[in-house]
Amino acid sequence: TQEFSVSNQNPIHGKVGRVPVGIGRRRMRIVVTGGAGFVGSHLVDKLIGRGDEVIVIDNFFTGRKENVVHLFGNPRFELIRHDVVEPILLEVDQIYHLACPASPTNVMGTLNMLGLAKRVGARFLLTSTSEVYGDPLQHPQKETYWGNVNPIGERSCYDEGKRTAETLTMDYHRGDGVEVRIARIFNTYGPRMCLDDGRVVSNFVAQAIRKQPMTVYGDGKQTRSFQYVSDLVDGLVALMEGEHIGPFNLGNPGEFTMLELAEVVKDTIDPSATIEYKPNTADDPHMRKPDISKAKELLNWEPKIPLREGLPLMVNDFRNRILNEDEGKGA
Ligand code: NAD
Ligand code: UDP
Ligand code: UDP
Repeated sequence: TQEFSVSNQNPIHGKVGRVPVGIGRRRMRIVVTGGAGFVGSHLVDKLIGRGDEVIVIDNFFTGRKENVVHLFGNPRFELIRHDVVEPILLEVDQIYHLACPASPTNVMGTLNMLGLAKRVGARFLLTSTSEVYGDPLQHPQKETYWGNVNPIGERSCYDEGKRTAETLTMDYHRGDGVEVRIARIFNTYGPRMCLDDGRVVSNFVAQAIRKQPMTVYGDGKQTRSFQYVSDLVDGLVALMEGEHIGPFNLGNPGEFTMLELAEVVKDTIDPSATIEYKPNTADDPHMRKPDISKAKELLNWEPKIPLREGLPLMVNDFRNRILNEDEGKGA
């Protein structure tokens, strides 16, 4: 693979003087908002790995510099500390929009990135979520299902924020001709996942490592489908590079109850791990499982890593971070 430098930047059309990277592909300049986060940092690794130029925009709300520090010094990598709620001017070919705190600022950030895509003619990919289906009345969920979200519920801020982001994305496509892609991501896990943001996989894994009981909310019979992060990243890139707008479900159809998940964590990390029941949160979806036939057919994508293979791949990363944390506390 021969590498060339970027030239001929054209600020009007944003076609950043694309120069060859190997055979049949041109190097692109790509923005990843939320690129210092869990999914974003893995995506950035893949894009840098294949020879593209990557600009990460992140305000470190939940992301961490540690997730991308191995790329510092790479001339094709740039990190901008910036809140996407504020406008920003850049010249790029593609925008992967992952930045999203679970709050309404989601909408403003998406609007700005769509405005940027419109101005420079970049292709825009929204990372939406399976939460747009709410507590689904269809199982498994197909992309044609419109969802069952309580608009005034405790978790609706996130769900409705993403639903609005999807609406804005399609409006910019229809109204302004912006090239867009929409991914509906189902529960994803892997190394670099936030340690303490309350997701079930990170909670169980951290609890098992710390020799604390795994907290099962409700009766533990609710289901989720867990996808390993490298499968998701492959799906996001296939979607961005393909010809279809979506929305596409990106998830692993393997479905588990929370009690089954606890079993897998126990088998993987500590056979003596115990569970402890806690009250569940309001409006918790009873079940969730993606129908991925559309992505299989049109993107030629499907996940490869089942839960029992993926979970062990995150344990070392979690152990190291928990160890560092404990040392930090002088423990
Ligand atoms: P994450 O919290 O690890 O990453 C989000 C990143 O965005 C963080 O680095 C954070 O600092 C950054 N960010 C937040 N607000 C920002 C702002 N205003 N300006 C700039 N940066 C900001 O979360 P993740 O799990 O990597 O999720 C990435 C995307 O995928 C999100 O849009 C999320 O909604 C979506 N998603 C994730 C899952 C999952 O299971 N991980 C499931 C469905 C959808
Ligand atoms: N925007 C941005 N970067 C750009 C172009 C636009 O951040 O390169 C922001 C802009 O500030 C606005 C939003 O994106 O808040 C939507 O832009 P658009 O041009 O669609 O809307 P308008 O400014 O016409 O209302
Ligand atoms: N959950 C649990 N114990 C925990 C954290 C979550 O049993 O420590 C349950 C939660 O009630 C939900 C499921 O696990 O039914 C998935 O929760 P998560 O927040 O990971 O994802 P989401 O609800 O957004 O799909």
